[in-house]
Amino acid sequence: MPTIALSPCRQMSDYLESVRRAGASPRELTLADQPAAVAAEVDGLLLTGGGDVDPALYGAAPHSTYSAAEPGRDAFEIALVRAVLDAGKPVFAICRGMQVLNVALGGDLVQDIPTEVNGAAHHDIREPRYALAHEVWTTQGSRFSTLMREKLVDGESCQVNSRHHQAVKHLGAGLEVVATAPDGVIEAVERPGTFCLGVQWHPENFWRTGEFRPLFEGFVDACRRPS
Ligand code: MN
Repeated sequence: MPTIALSPCRQMSDYLESVRRAGASPRELTLADQPAAVAAEVDGLLLTGGGDVDPALYGAAPHSTYSAAEPGRDAFEIALVRAVLDAGKPVFAICRGMQVLNVALGGDLVQDIPTEVNGAAHHDIREPRYALAHEVWTTQGSRFSTLMREKLVDGESCQVNSRHHQAVKHLGAGLEVVATAPDGVIEAVERPGTFCLGVQWHPENFWRTGEFRPLFEGFVDACRRPS
C-alpha cells in the first residue's frame, strides 16, 4: 500500500478519509519534518488547503485581504513540493496546495477574486464545505478530464465547491490549465508526465458521495510502486 504524505493543516479528517478510501496509507507531516527526507521516504504528496501564500514569494505587495497561513507553512510546503517533484513522485495539490504548487514553479496568484475578476462567480471562503457552488469546464484529453470521464456532464463539465478567494494567475513552469470556471478563473492545473494535479476546490469533502473519487484513485494508482 503506498504511503502518501499530507502537509499539515487545520482540517485533516476529510483528506485522511479520502486517501484511505482510495487505498493508501496517509502520513501526516509536521513543520519539523525535513522535505528531502520526506520526498525520499513517501510514495506521493498531497498538499492540503489553508491560508494565503505570502505574496512576497511571487514578487507582489499584499492585498488588503491577505490572510497568512500558519507561520512556516509557505517555506516548508514550497521546499517539500519541489523535493517531491525532483524525486519524480506524484503530487496532488488541493486549494491552497494548488497555489503553493504554482508559486513553487515560479507562477503567481490572483490575490482576491471578488475585487480582481470582473463578473466573478461564487468563489468565497465562506461558501459551504459540502455544497457544489459552480461548474468547471475541463480540457479534453487532460489527465483530469480522463480520470473524471464517468462523472462529467456531456463529457466536459462538473460541479465543484468553491471555498477560496485566490486563484492561479500566471502559470508556473510546465503547468497547463485543465479546468476553468465560467468566469475564467483557473480551477485545475496539471503537469504532463508523472502525476501532478492541482485543483482549486475541495474534492476531499465529497468522500461520502464520491463525486471526485476518481481523482484520489488516480493519484493513489500513480503512487503505487511497481511490484
Ligand atoms: Mn471556485
